[in-house]
Amino acid sequence: MSAAARSAMTIARVALPVAVYTLFDYWVPAGLEVSRGQMVRVHLGRRALVGVVVGIGASTDVAGNKLQPVGEVVVGMPPLPPDVLAMADFVSRYYQEPLGLVLAQMLPPLAGNVARAPMAVAAVALSADGRELLPPRVVRAPKARALFEWLNAADDATLGAEAIAALAPRERALLRAWLGHGWVVPAPAPAAPALPLPALNADQQAAADAIVAALATFAPFLLQGVTGSGKTEVYLAAAAAAIAAGGQALLLVPEINLTPQLAQRIAAALPGRRTVMLHSRLAGGERARAWVAAAAGDADLVLGTRLAVFTPLPRLALIVVDEEQDSSFKQQDGVRYHGRDVAIWRAQQCGVPIVLGSATPSLETLAQAQRGRYGWRKLPHRAIEPARLPALRFEPNRDAGAVEGLGLPLLAAIEARLARGEQSLIFINRRGFSPSLLCAACGWQAGCPRCSARLVVHRNDRELRCHHCGHAERLPRACPECGNVDLMPLGHGTQRLEGALAARFPDARIVRIDRDSTQRKGAFTAMRDSVHAGEVDILVGTQMLAKGHDFPRLTLVGVLGADNALYSADFRATERLAALLFQVAGRAGRALLPGEVIVQTDFPAHPLYRALAGHDYESFAATLLAERRLTGLPPFGHLALLAAEARDRRDVDAFLTAARDAADVVVRAANLTVDIYPPVPAGLARRAGMERGQVLAQSAERGPLQRFLPAWREALLRLPGRRVRWVLDVDPAGFA
Ligand code: ADP
Ligand code: ZN
Ligand code: ZN
Repeated sequence: MSAAARSAMTIARVALPVAVYTLFDYWVPAGLEVSRGQMVRVHLGRRALVGVVVGIGASTDVAGNKLQPVGEVVVGMPPLPPDVLAMADFVSRYYQEPLGLVLAQMLPPLAGNVARAPMAVAAVALSADGRELLPPRVVRAPKARALFEWLNAADDATLGAEAIAALAPRERALLRAWLGHGWVVPAPAPAAPALPLPALNADQQAAADAIVAALATFAPFLLQGVTGSGKTEVYLAAAAAAIAAGGQALLLVPEINLTPQLAQRIAAALPGRRTVMLHSRLAGGERARAWVAAAAGDADLVLGTRLAVFTPLPRLALIVVDEEQDSSFKQQDGVRYHGRDVAIWRAQQCGVPIVLGSATPSLETLAQAQRGRYGWRKLPHRAIEPARLPALRFEPNRDAGAVEGLGLPLLAAIEARLARGEQSLIFINRRGFSPSLLCAACGWQAGCPRCSARLVVHRNDRELRCHHCGHAERLPRACPECGNVDLMPLGHGTQRLEGALAARFPDARIVRIDRDSTQRKGAFTAMRDSVHAGEVDILVGTQMLAKGHDFPRLTLVGVLGADNALYSADFRATERLAALLFQVAGRAGRALLPGEVIVQTDFPAHPLYRALAGHDYESFAATLLAERRLTGLPPFGHLALLAAEARDRRDVDAFLTAARDAADVVVRAANLTVDIYPPVPAGLARRAGMERGQVLAQSAERGPLQRFLPAWREALLRLPGRRVRWVLDVDPAGFA
């Protein structure tokens, strides 16, 4: 290539989804329009990748003969706007992850043809031309004819988003072609059946007014409302105002809360507005379409899980994070960002209000509210009168008459509900409370061969399974150590409880809701619907049952195994248990029937249980905050965790020791107030055959830690240790 040709060349700097901290230069062929933020297809070596252009220049350090061209611009995807690129840059720097990986997280999957030409319409209808011209043309093509007839038969000749999503690829291609011809046209989404909207009560109105008054400025709010207090109506009232003023609203919810119920309430509260959903379980094409609709400003409200925080929203006016304390907002692999924290950053950058809603706010959020940095609005009463908070009782775990851990008081309470035709929920705190297999003769316990964990008995499948690595083996008939055939399962799993309840209450209709019973797609929804329809008397379940569901005939909640989390090594375990128990307790007596909660515990005087009995989350949070202040843990300190694993324990130890030394060097050189702790084995010291360990960095202020991390990361990349895999987790959710 001649010098003249090179000097006239346009260079695109591209962030690629690879685990290196550099950008890649490509030359832009003549005639290709490439701008910042655009998604482009390029080759890295022989690999074909989609990257994002983060800069345009006229020169490069890459040798001319090595320089490759940009392949093409991804069709149908608008370039990422500057504010989203800035968010990517922030996430990359804050969480110490390569920009290309961060950007890859933000984009919907771009594989295949669907994403190449996303259909950015919620609904389509036959146009007048279509009605006239299509019938003669489709006579010979059966596919086309079927599609036409479908459109023609549909109400108002309109196909909704769900119907479009359900089309076969061939039909969708046809539809796209017809859109091109103008035979079908984008249609307004069909109006939702009007649900009666409750008038806001005084507390709700005051909260909504405060948020609306803050529109167009950065204003964080903590909306602390007891379960059933009607937080959702406040979100929706604020969103309606934001949208009426020409804005878009972003509503982030935990994985588990993406319910059709919520979608219905949104549709009722925002008639004529367009809502799109964004979460990881959507098919790629669907997600791409929703994303494009949001980015183009066609969607008024985006409802999604943590990944939706990255959606381009040209008219963003309000962000809401529901159940802001939920741990699913923190991604646990790949780019370990916290959706809530990124949302706060984004609200600040865009100058819009953000509402963090919870019955049991995270200690981080609570502390900010107490310091006066967040507007603090409370909804202390349930929305539906005369619903009252449930009464709490504590009963001992050890009970001579207990059946599979269900004590006599709990059994009697269930029986009373059955007699009255009301529903009961038995909640098992699964963390550290799964049935394992023990030999009473020699003390042998069924352990995972690849992890430092016990195997869990899955009686229905006659298997032992590891919940950490997925290892499974047949339930042994006899002890492998001593041959004893009388092996006893220890602890109470959901399956055993279900069995025991069925034996005790043979006429009761019992449903188990846990990870196993809800693996099939739609299974969870089907179960929830049958609970609603009153086809279930007793629900047995785990964490999945705790939140976001409103069962009017549910009047009893029994809690088993909560004690296990009280004395955990993980500093967040008690906080999580507290949130969970307040949520579970909130399930009882939501509507007109009074509720009761029975907690089986050996420590009824524990501050958590006392707070629970008084329905006083804040007093318990105050206890926890005092502890955290003493130990310098969040929110009174900031953490980063280096987690490493290798086949051989010696490799892990050597790497972590070197990592710690490297950290000390960085801290001393820059004179930073960051404490580095000695290497320790992880809580689960071995997983899937890998030995695991960690080093903790802690600082009272965020600034020094953020200055420390890039330098430490650089040093870590230079350490020998090819047999070691490691990650840096900034603001870890807990100690693994
Ligand atoms: P939260 O999210 O705070 O737990 P929800 O928003 O789910 O509470 O509301 C609980 C129930 O109260 C819902 O059935 C909702 O329709 C109802 N509700 C909310 N606000 C009102 C109101 N102002 N008047 C009557 N019912 C209401
Ligand atoms: Zn034995
Ligand atoms: Zn295992």
